[in-house]
Amino acid sequence: MVKFARCNALLSLAMDSSGKGCRYVAKAETEDDVVKDMSQHLQSVHQVDPGEMTANILATTKTTRG
Ligand SMILES: [Zn+2]
Repeated sequence: MVKFARCNALLSLAMDSSGKGCRYVAKAETEDDVVKDMSQHLQSVHQVDPGEMTANILATTKTTRG
């Protein structure tokens, strides 16, 4: 099973580095790693302080079946 979170679910108006709607998806086997992955993305691409986003990331993290 893989856990994932979508950037767009966190930042509804997020744009990627080329100005298009951000479709980044952080995927990992644990919620901790999803948070880490998404935190790095938020900081590097959107200049968002991930410290304030941890709870939101967890709230939008889903688990794939199979
Ligand atoms: Zn993004």
